[in-house]
Amino acid sequence: MVVVDNINFSIKISPKVNELWWSYRQVKAKDCEVFGVLIGNKNLNEENYSVLEVTVPQHDDLCSRTSFKLRDPEHQRRVDYLHKNSGGELIYLGTWHTHPEKIPLASNIDVQDWKECRLRNIERQLFFIIIGTEKNALYYFENENLQHQEF
Ligand SMILES: [Zn+2]
Repeated sequence: MVVVDNINFSIKISPKVNELWWSYRQVKAKDCEVFGVLIGNKNLNEENYSVLEVTVPQHDDLCSRTSFKLRDPEHQRRVDYLHKNSGGELIYLGTWHTHPEKIPLASNIDVQDWKECRLRNIERQLFFIIIGTEKNALYYFENENLQHQEF
């Protein structure tokens, strides 16, 4: 179990998700960016989150070495399915994608995309994870400010 924590919240990442991310690291020159959504739960009264499931690229998604477009409806279907089958416990928590760099840094496109995600889910804390080849980075908004933490 990987735990990412700071003064605002704590996120546990299940071994299953962590292994999947490890296997998708963008280590080969021709590898495409891999991406999906984060699905998990939150403790009722505390800022403790768990990432338990993620989606991976689907048939109608697009990707290149340095970009991706999450557009296959399967991602949303998976979120809805797990939400229903967990009695509402499992929710959409954000997105993840890979970068072909050791220590990943968000691009301007990433930041723009996350701002739009945030506006669509303003009532909820969202997390944006980039999987690098050696380190990963968590990004999140603290009010208007984008924060960043490596793990
Ligand atoms: Zn990116």
